[in-house]
Amino acid sequence: MILLIEQKQPNILFIMSDDHAAHAISAYGSRINETPYIDRIAKEGIRFDNCFCTNSICAPSRASILTGKYNHENGVRTLWEPMDTRQQHVAKVLQGNGYQTAMIGKWHLGHGKNSDPTGFDYWNILPDQGDYNNPDMIEMGETKSYPGYVTDIITDLSLDWMNKRDNNKPFFLMCHHKAPHRPWKPDEKYKNLYEDIDIQEPETFHDDYQNRSLAAFEAVMRVDRDLQKRDVKMDPPNDLSPEALKSWYYQRYIKDYLRCVASIDDNVGRMLDYLDTEGITDNTIVIYTSDQGFFLGDHGWYDKRFMYEESLRMPFLVRYPKMVKANSSTSSFALNVDFAQTFLDYAEVEAPTDMQGTSLRPILEGKNPADWQQSMYYRYWEHMSDPHKVGAHFGVRTHTHKLIYYYGKSLNVPGSYDDPKEPEWELFDLEKDPSELNNVYHHPQYQETVKELKKELFLLKKKVCDFD
Ligand code: CA
Repeated sequence: MILLIEQKQPNILFIMSDDHAAHAISAYGSRINETPYIDRIAKEGIRFDNCFCTNSICAPSRASILTGKYNHENGVRTLWEPMDTRQQHVAKVLQGNGYQTAMIGKWHLGHGKNSDPTGFDYWNILPDQGDYNNPDMIEMGETKSYPGYVTDIITDLSLDWMNKRDNNKPFFLMCHHKAPHRPWKPDEKYKNLYEDIDIQEPETFHDDYQNRSLAAFEAVMRVDRDLQKRDVKMDPPNDLSPEALKSWYYQRYIKDYLRCVASIDDNVGRMLDYLDTEGITDNTIVIYTSDQGFFLGDHGWYDKRFMYEESLRMPFLVRYPKMVKANSSTSSFALNVDFAQTFLDYAEVEAPTDMQGTSLRPILEGKNPADWQQSMYYRYWEHMSDPHKVGAHFGVRTHTHKLIYYYGKSLNVPGSYDDPKEPEWELFDLEKDPSELNNVYHHPQYQETVKELKKELFLLKKKVCDFD
């Protein structure tokens, strides 16, 4: 007699794109595009409406996801600090507890002796940012060239790896797309998508940065002023008014961005189809997320880094038919440092005690713990770094308010410039001013709130052991 033993630990398929803002996903109410396959995860699972990164920039967020730690603890505070992969992280723990593990696509945590992926049975990564077309990839230390479009290739390699897996063991696959990162090069088949339409401009497109910090005014990420020819792929027409030129830049930028997203969406569909074909949909946790958010013309900007909503928020969709109710959503807070412990919780493995997050399992399963996190700590470390010139800051967000402190110093953090600024504070009332256009830090009626939030900010700082 053959006994069929049901695999107890779920497979974990973690699909992450790069710079894909939640407001360019139709499940999140996008007004500018449709993402039917990503939406499928939301329809069959749960949508997190308040998932935030703790530092809105690529490498640091990736390091937090892997280690379950804030950047001052995992050593990747900026783009200029490679991750020391000798440290503990989620893939290592899963690999040591019965999982077959793989990392395919954009790694962006450095490479070489102490920064190559560890904890993965198989890895095949883009060097640094990687190329959109015919990319080189480093397969277990060996560089190879792959013909084709990067989003398709990363998916092909992921499907190949899943095909070759041991069916008797659970898997943990990190499938990390390069797209839709700058310079937004779409696949040939989508180069004419949206050609005959104008994409709607965001409400804050003409933000004039009044009533805000000098930091917002000084940032170099304005769609009309700071996008380069390599971004928009042609010279701008020379007969346009400043307003028309700004719109022209936005259309050039956002269309290519959304075309890159279209390929991501197709490829998410391919991955979901594969799970169906294999009959493993029920026993596989599927996540779709991005390393941070992005400004899609919001505040007149592209890029990220700021603690403002569009950059802070990560899309986070999870499907796990066994445990997660279909078509559900939550406004409970979730952070990138929580992902690792969530995976370990489902794998029924104890998390290392130095991980700093919280398993999201109760939220995923529709519970509402009374003691759930009601505030989050954020810190962007790169002071005035080129080319975007965003001042270093830390802050706290609650369900109703956000307090940000631009401390004006480089603190000799790698990548930072020695360009001291007057420290400044911003407070936003997110209920009255969800677009964050009006800093009320100095308003007399908010002084009690300022006091409470400062207390909370320094409590959180202490709790996460960020002392300086
Ligand atoms: Ca990114």
